[in-house]
Amino acid sequence: MDEHGYGPEQAHQEREQGREQARLYALRQLNLLDTPPSESFDRITRMASKFFGMPIAAVSLTDADRQWFKSRVGVEHWQIPRFQACCGEVADSSDVVIVPDLLESPTYRDSLLARSGIRFYAGAPLQTQEGYTLGAMCVLDTQPRDISEEEVAILQDMAAMVMAQIEMQHAFGRIDPLTGLPNRSQFVEDLDDLLRDAPGQQRYALFTEVLDIAQASMLNRVMGPAYLDELTHVAGRGLQETLGIAQRLYSVGPCQYVHLVEGNDESELLDEALRLRQALMSLDLIREAPVLVRPAIGVAPLSLGAEGAADSLRTAHSACQDARQTESGAGVYSHALDARYRRHFRLLSDFREALESRDQLRLVYQPRVELGSRACRGAEALLRWRHPELGEVSPVEFIPLIENTPLATPLTAWVLRTAIDQVKAWHDQGLALCVSLNVSACNLDEADFAQRLLARIAEAGLPLAAIEIELTETALFSQGRAAWQQLDTLEAAGMRIAIDDFGTGYSSLAYLQDIPAKIVKIDRTFIRGLDVESRSRTLVKSMLRMAHDLGYHVVAEGVETKRTCEYLEALGCNEVQGYWFARPMEAAAFQKWLGELR
Ligand code: C2E
Ligand code: MG
Ligand code: MG
Repeated sequence: MDEHGYGPEQAHQEREQGREQARLYALRQLNLLDTPPSESFDRITRMASKFFGMPIAAVSLTDADRQWFKSRVGVEHWQIPRFQACCGEVADSSDVVIVPDLLESPTYRDSLLARSGIRFYAGAPLQTQEGYTLGAMCVLDTQPRDISEEEVAILQDMAAMVMAQIEMQHAFGRIDPLTGLPNRSQFVEDLDDLLRDAPGQQRYALFTEVLDIAQASMLNRVMGPAYLDELTHVAGRGLQETLGIAQRLYSVGPCQYVHLVEGNDESELLDEALRLRQALMSLDLIREAPVLVRPAIGVAPLSLGAEGAADSLRTAHSACQDARQTESGAGVYSHALDARYRRHFRLLSDFREALESRDQLRLVYQPRVELGSRACRGAEALLRWRHPELGEVSPVEFIPLIENTPLATPLTAWVLRTAIDQVKAWHDQGLALCVSLNVSACNLDEADFAQRLLARIAEAGLPLAAIEIELTETALFSQGRAAWQQLDTLEAAGMRIAIDDFGTGYSSLAYLQDIPAKIVKIDRTFIRGLDVESRSRTLVKSMLRMAHDLGYHVVAEGVETKRTCEYLEALGCNEVQGYWFARPMEAAAFQKWLGELR
């Protein structure tokens, strides 16, 4: 014993406690406790009761303070206290326990079992491959009796059958049937174990994706789903062979694999990723695939304990997606890039609340000024979002995100409602202004978009000339003819439509003949260069000439200097919008600005 009174007795006790904790953890991991009965276990207990000719048989699991029966014959309860339960002794000793007569046993004479009429008990341990005893396969009788060695061996066989069943059920759902590799659930579980055993240590996850979604769906179309299955299988085997059998590889999705490595030299890990990638590329099935298969491998650090398993998988996948964009197809996780995606995700999730809040969204107005007269007949309404925690978020960041989601509909509806209310207020004050609104491509997918817009304007008692809509070239072209019908409806009713960001859409100029629009807004990337670049001048000059020849009204966006303004005036541009005249302003500031202009 040392000076603190710590002796071998106490050390032994602590070891025992540690072992019991590990045993309970193993038991909980199997998710068996408090689950409904299952025929696969009941079959074995029935057989045991019949074979031994005893009224009671059970598969009994030893929890912290109770015996819980996964399966039982001849007992009514689901559980009994662990204290003085014979099965508890099986768990403690990890050995067969036989009590020929409970009433003769000093330990069990006064136990609950004995008091309920049980005389005989035999239990064989239910042992995992790691050596933890979960409980017992037991048979009980109301009379004292003996049990032969042969019978004990049979009871042990039955316990082994129960364990095989438990382990099979556990493996089921943890092995990917295509590759035979452990799957995502197993990855999550193993990572949790690692968290427990090596908290705070550094590991890296290598996430391998043989094809991206677009390539996968292309292959599916060309070759059918069986081909993808085969690719998943072959690539998994190829990777495992390259890694060596000792390295655990997980199959976490179609053609997606992940494995964990130790180490801290990122450039070495990157070399390893390149080596694996090379090995994949040299597989016959990949070399001979009917579409170009480009595997990508991302390397992501995880500090065990800092993040949950699901998040580790997410960062590793994110690293892999980024790696896909690189020439080498392999890359190390970038915090900055990931932070951007997280922010995007946050913006997307928070936007609905913004729509419902009263103070997060607002419209600002940027004047459009007529060249020649220098009169301002209207403004473009631009959306602003003040996020309660992130502050001002630019529409350049959030609009493209929202546009790909169903939220694009309520977003535009909000803009239309707010702008129409504002324009109505101005008209009521005698300011006959025209406000142009930005509309997303997907809004044209809403079958009643045009009708609703016209109805709203009519309800407000505004003339159609009070509202204009802007659509980008890309928007017009991504939607096809059906969407154009909406525009035809609007145009037929007399509403003016503008092609926004003109010149940036890479689309054919031929469409200008057909499109139901009257206004072209030349993108500010062309206008910006007018002061200095002769190329921009040539481009803008030709755009203006062509647009005018086709009868368009032309607006130049992003006019920042007096010189640009004068140059555009000389070319005959109709209207300009830009910082040279005014930045986008709140409605009241715009109205004040207008008053000073007049
Ligand atoms: P846009 O429709 O082309 O709007 C013009 C953008 O150019 C505005 O950016 C405006 O502030 C900026 N701008 C105007 N004059 C100048 C200038 O002289 N110099 C420079 N550097 N920039 C100038 P903003 O407000 O950040 O909006 C960006 C884009 O977001 C808009 O481009 C539009 O595509 C989109 N957006 C804004 N509000 C809405 C909306 O309510 N609905 C939809 N669907 N999109 C919107
Ligand atoms: Mg616009
Ligand atoms: Mg624009």
